[in-house]
Amino acid sequence: MQDAILVLNAGSSSLKFSVFRLESEAATLFIHGQLESLTTPDSHDQALTSVLERCTSELGENRLVAVGHRVVHGGVKYASPVQIDGVVLAELEQLVPLAPLHQPHNLAAIRAMSRRVPHLPQVACFDTAFHRTQPEVAQQFGLPRRFTEEGVRRYGFHGLSYEYIASVLEGHDRRAAEGRTVVAHLGNGASMCAMRGGKSIATTMSFTPADGLMMGTRCGSLDPGVLLYLMTRHSMSGDAVEHLIYHESGLLGVSGRSSDMRVLLSSANPNAVEAIDLFVYRIGRELGSLAAALGGLDALVFTGGIGENSAVIRERVCRDAAWLGAINIHVIPTNEEVMIANHTRRVLGLKGVS
Ligand code: ADP
Repeated sequence: MQDAILVLNAGSSSLKFSVFRLESEAATLFIHGQLESLTTPDSHDQALTSVLERCTSELGENRLVAVGHRVVHGGVKYASPVQIDGVVLAELEQLVPLAPLHQPHNLAAIRAMSRRVPHLPQVACFDTAFHRTQPEVAQQFGLPRRFTEEGVRRYGFHGLSYEYIASVLEGHDRRAAEGRTVVAHLGNGASMCAMRGGKSIATTMSFTPADGLMMGTRCGSLDPGVLLYLMTRHSMSGDAVEHLIYHESGLLGVSGRSSDMRVLLSSANPNAVEAIDLFVYRIGRELGSLAAALGGLDALVFTGGIGENSAVIRERVCRDAAWLGAINIHVIPTNEEVMIANHTRRVLGLKGVS
């Protein structure tokens, strides 16, 4: 019999889950699945029931001992994973206004699990935590101080992905692990992180995961004046603007066809070509900015669905980055789930079977 950890990534309309068995050295993946099209609180709840049923039927002799959650926002306070109790949950609830599209789903999954399996300890692992090492100057907007104090700051996201890359980088490239490295996480959501010695010192996403690079359906950095224009000239409501910048923009909005890079790469349509040009151009511009924050660059790492799989996009990014001189280039598949499993194990002090 072996102990196992359930890892949950509860999104707005999907639930990804993985079960890891605790071996002596590593947590090894045992079950993995994804439930899609969850559009109501009831469907989210039923999805968790079916995950637990699947665990019960497939775990056999093995025993679930903990649940690890991906939680998008840990605010200023949480710089590392934490075991969840009533106080922590209440504090994470306070952060809902900072991540209204993601945080409520993460917290609903935590509450649902504590109702169903109250004996299992739960650990929250935050997408923001890895970026708490950014210097203060990298976390501030040029807004009046009172807004910074109430939490309007550059937090950064994709932290579990960056932390995983940082944890394996040494095995790929010692100079990159110790030196100045930019990691480009290019998936449906896309961001870049500047690391010095494996620690985040700047990143492209900021207050929300809408900032920075252009993404599948998110616009990325936008002149704040554009939002004012949309609200006054087009009488768009806050909700309408939110939908526009999160769901109708990016590769989808510019191409008018698809948010999927594979579809765009196989199309000769000029708008699809232009969408890819803009995607690559924005990466190049942000790379320059992050290299400036690092004072030079030793290595560039690609990860995420596009970064791992598209040689064409990688080649175009590298061509535009030629001005940076000789830098090492790596492709490293990310693994946020194993990061959550390992954090959960460590926070709870769980031993593996030797
Ligand atoms: P998410 O951010 O939702 O986790 P992924 O990291 O899975 O997304 O990335 C999804 C993106 O990766 C999509 O745009 C998809 O088209 C792209 N992608 C996956 N495989 C390839 C490929 N072989 N070539 C180009 N793009 C790819």
